[in-house]
This record gives sequence, C-alpha cells and structure tokens, in this order.
Amino acid sequence: MLNNSLIELDRAHLVHPVASYRGHEKRGVRVLKSGRGASVTDSTGHTLVDGFAGLWCVNAGYGQDSIVEAATRQMRELPYATGYFGLGSEPAIRLAAELADRAPGDLNHIYFTLGGSDAVDSTIRFIRYYYHAKGTPKKDQFISVEQGYHGSSTAGSGLTALPVFHTGFGVPYDWQHKIPSHYAYRNPVGSEPQAIIDASVAALRAKVNELGAERVAAFYVEPIQGSGGVLVPPKGWMKAMRDVCRELDILFVADEVITGFGRTGPLFACLEDEIVPDFMTTAKGLTSGYVPMGAVFMSDRVYNTIADGAGMAAIGHGYTYSAHPVSAAVGLECLSLYENGLLENGVRAGKRLTAGLQSLADHPLVGDVRGRGMLAAIELVTDKQRKTPLPAAADPSRRIFDRAWENGLVIRAFANGVIGYAPPLCCTDDDIDRIIDRTQMTLDQTLEDPDVR
Ligand code: PMP
Repeated sequence: MLNNSLIELDRAHLVHPVASYRGHEKRGVRVLKSGRGASVTDSTGHTLVDGFAGLWCVNAGYGQDSIVEAATRQMRELPYATGYFGLGSEPAIRLAAELADRAPGDLNHIYFTLGGSDAVDSTIRFIRYYYHAKGTPKKDQFISVEQGYHGSSTAGSGLTALPVFHTGFGVPYDWQHKIPSHYAYRNPVGSEPQAIIDASVAALRAKVNELGAERVAAFYVEPIQGSGGVLVPPKGWMKAMRDVCRELDILFVADEVITGFGRTGPLFACLEDEIVPDFMTTAKGLTSGYVPMGAVFMSDRVYNTIADGAGMAAIGHGYTYSAHPVSAAVGLECLSLYENGLLENGVRAGKRLTAGLQSLADHPLVGDVRGRGMLAAIELVTDKQRKTPLPAAADPSRRIFDRAWENGLVIRAFANGVIGYAPPLCCTDDDIDRIIDRTQMTLDQTLEDPDVR
C-alpha cells in the first residue's frame, strides 16, 4: 500500500497512545516497515539506529530468528491455553519456574499479565487482597514517587506522577500519595548522594506519619525512574527506602518494567541494588516486545498470606490472556538469548554508550548526563550555570525528535528537554558510535535554532 494512503487511513481510524490527537492528524504517521539488529527502516526507505529499542522494550534487538521460531512452533502446537479451570501450558509453567529461579530472594510466585500497566494494576489488587486476608483492610493507602511512572491503567495511572496522565482522568484517587523524587540534577538538597538518600527517607517517614502507618499499604518505586526522564537514584537509595518500609510494615513494590531483563546490566536492577522487594513488576524485555506479556513477582510471604486467607475460595483476579503460551515461549527464548551473550554484550555496549554521552558533556546545551547500563539520558539547558530548561513554547522535544530522525537516529525526546536512550542490548560498537555521532549532530543543529536557544 502506498505510504500516502496509509497516512490517510491512520489519520482517519487509528487512535495513538499518549498523543495529541489533533497534532498527530496534522503531522501524519511515520510508518515503520522492518528492523534488523539495532536498526529500523521506515516506509520511505529511511534506515535509523533505534536508540530507544521501540519503547525501551526490544532488548534482544530486531530480527532474532530464534524468537520467531519459538513463537511459530508454539502457535502450531497450541496457540492458546487458559489458566482458568486449573488448566495450563508447558511454556508458561517453565517460564514461571525459570523466572523464580533468577529473581531476587523469595520472589517465587509469578503472575503473568499482558504488559506493564496491568502488572502494576494487579499488584494493587493483590495488595488489597493481602491486607484483607491478614484482617487489616484499613491498610489501603498507597505511596509513590514524584516523576514516577507506573502505567496508565485506571488505578495505576494515579500512582504515576506525570500530570499528562492525570489531567481530565479524575486521578490520582484520594488513597494515592507522593513523595518528592531523588532527581539529583534538580534536587533542592543538592546532588550529594547521602543528602538525597536522607531527604527521601525523611519524606517517606513524614508521609507515613501523616497518613498513619496502620493505614499505609505499599510504597512503589522504579529502580531508575524511566518516563520521568531517566532519573538514577544514588547507590544505596533503594536499600534505604526498602529498610524504612520493612521497619514500618509497608509492602515494597519495585517496578522493573523498564529496568528488568538486562536494561541496566543484570537480569533485574534489584539484584544490583541488593534488595528483595515484596513485589516486582516486569514487562517489555520479558518478551523483548515481540509479543505482549508482563509478569508480577510475589514473595513467599505475600503469596502464602493471600492463599491461606482465601482458603478454598477463588481469588477473583484474572485475564483471558494470563500466561499466554505463545508469549511464554517467546519469554523462554528471550531469557536464553540474554544468558547466552546478550546481557554481556549489553554491559559492554552500555559502557561505550555512557562514555560516548559523557564526551558530549561539554556541549553548550548539555546540562546533565546520567544513566546505568543501556539506559541513559542527557538533559538539555540553555544556561548551564542556572540550569535553565529549553523554552517549552518552542516545543523543543518535537524539534529534537524530528532532527534526530532526519539524522538517522530514534531517541526519546521528553517534554522537558531530556533526551532518553535505551538501545537494544545487541548493539555493536558501530551502532553505539552512530548513536553518539547523530546525537552530536542533532545538538549542533539545535544550538543553531533561534527558537530553542
Ligand atoms: N511501569 C513502568 C516503570 C513503565 O515504564 C511502564 C511503561 N513504560 C509501565 C509500568 C507500563 O507498561 P505498559 O506500557 O506495558 O502497560
């Protein structure tokens, strides 16, 4: 089909996620046609390095034949099996066991979802049920972190702390609360790690105090805040927050939807942070975006409390596509690829990415460079001393995204002048060098743009 007629059909019929509908209609869609390794090609034949792995999800890279074969094999043999009625499928059972085997501590119970939002939403339901089962249903207040993102489900979007997900939607609910982010570059307490940790600990204690510990159910964090602009907490931050939650009897939920499956180096960021949460949510890299799937990891304690509390009664939470066999078969193959070279390659490529972005730190527009492994960002400012953000009226993120695209690079351009990177773990040195060179070119062009300066 001709590109122009696709654009017309898209404009008329396809509603896009997190978009200005009128803005999108005006600009028209860019149609992606194919992908290989770390590169994608659009319908005009323009090939780009995908510095964002789709939506931080194609961790294994494009065109991995063994994933395609695993999905095809499973579709031929058994394309669907429900988990209802006590039924199941071999790939789902095997994937649950393999994940539990690699998860931190006693996160031995896996509940499969369709993606990250419903994984987060499932934790909210499980946590409510957990306290119901314990006989303390008044513990029903939830705390998360400013700049955090926990999906866009009806309940999860209220744990998300980005205004665009709230405006017009009637969230957050009155049981959803926030504490300030650790955001080191713009933290009122400065950038010294211990000061940031102390401030976050004090903020969490104060919030719990205000609500009453007997009412607080859970605290949600991302090991690195992704959609808020790739905000990396200081080393020890996760552990300090986990300790407070344990002390105050609050469940700790680590949302690893972005950080899971090698994005920061190891299979899960919690392993590097040396903490065991009560729940862990994952998606994206679980199936590398080839098919949809998410997973909630639950500790022995939580699982057994829920199970014992219900006794022989059914726990009414489930989806038609929970533990989908094709997704599970893909998950098993991704895990095998990660452990047979991709994680290692990701660590190596991540060092090159970090060094490359650091080399841009002297550019007049670059105020901050941050990241861990294959997850990174640069924050652009017009005045480094004052940390002045790019003028929002000029829609800098749209301009930066478009320029990078023309330069053959897909990046995430956040609204606040932050450029995000999350390339596939299969990146070669050349791929990483192209990401850096094309970023440099994009920055130089932005510097010449009178509306953005
Ligand atoms: N949690 C986090 C930390 C995420 O980054 C995302 C997605 N970017 C989600 C939850 C929601 O996942 P999904 O888009 O698959 O619903």
